[in-house]
Amino acid sequence: MPEGHTVHRTANRFRKDFAGRELNISSPQGRFIDAVLVTGQQLESSEAFGKHLFLGFPSGFIRIHLGIYGKWRFAEFKAEPKEPVGQVRARFLSEHFVADLVGPTACEVIDLAGYQLQKSKLGPDPLRIDPADQELERFIGRCQRTKTPIGQLLMDQSVISGIGNVYRAELLFRARLSPFRTGNEVSEQDLAGIWFDAVKLMKIGVTKGIMLTRDDHLRGMPQLKDRYFVYKREGLPCRNCGNEVSLQLMSSRKLYWCTSCQKL
Ligand SMILES: [Zn+2]
Repeated sequence: MPEGHTVHRTANRFRKDFAGRELNISSPQGRFIDAVLVTGQQLESSEAFGKHLFLGFPSGFIRIHLGIYGKWRFAEFKAEPKEPVGQVRARFLSEHFVADLVGPTACEVIDLAGYQLQKSKLGPDPLRIDPADQELERFIGRCQRTKTPIGQLLMDQSVISGIGNVYRAELLFRARLSPFRTGNEVSEQDLAGIWFDAVKLMKIGVTKGIMLTRDDHLRGMPQLKDRYFVYKREGLPCRNCGNEVSLQLMSSRKLYWCTSCQKL
C-alpha cells in the first residue's frame, strides 16, 4: 500500500502537469460516474493529506484514496494520448498530459463541506508542517491520552496521517521503542522524536520516490534487501544487535521489530 510520500508526489505531479488547465475527465471503465460533474473545469488545487489526494475544481473536489491496489499511470503525449489499458476508473487529460487511475478504494466528487469533513477526520500529516496548527502538539496529545500501543497508533490515520507499515516499523526501530508500549507511556520527548524523524524520512521519500530509513543509505538507491532495518526482515539478524528480527500481527497488519533493541 502506498504511504503518504507517494500521495504527496502525485499531488506535486498534478500541480506541475495539470494545474491551471481545463481538464477532460472521463471514466473509461464507467464506474466513476461523477466525472461529468467536474469535467471541462480548471484544476485549481492539488493537495495531499495523509493518504488522500484532493483535486480542487470550481464546482467541487475529487477525493482519491488508492487503498491497497490503486495505481497511477502518467504520460506525456504529442498529438493523441494512448488508449487506456485495463480497468481505468478515471482518466485526466490536458493538452499534453494524461493520468490514468486504476483500482482505487475511493474516487468521488465531494463539495466543500465534504472536503472539510474528510480533512477534519485526519490526524496531522508530517509532510504538511504548519506550526499555526500546532500539529506536533496534536499528535503528542492524541498518543498520550490512550492505552493503545504506539505501534497501532502510528497506523491510525486519525492520530498521524500518511504513515503505513514500512514507516511504522522503521520509525519505531530508529527510536528503539517497543511497538507494544502504550501511548500514555511514551514520553513527550520520544513522541516528538518520532514526529521529527517522520518529517525527515518522509521528505526523503517524496524526493526519491522510495522509502529510505537507514542513515548510511539515505543518499543512494540501495537495493530492497539493504533498504530497511526491520521491515520484511523477520528471522534475519538485527542490523544493530544481531538478534533475530521478529514478526507478529498487530491489528491484522504485519509488525516487524527487534525484541532486544526495542524492549518494552
Ligand atoms: Zn536489535
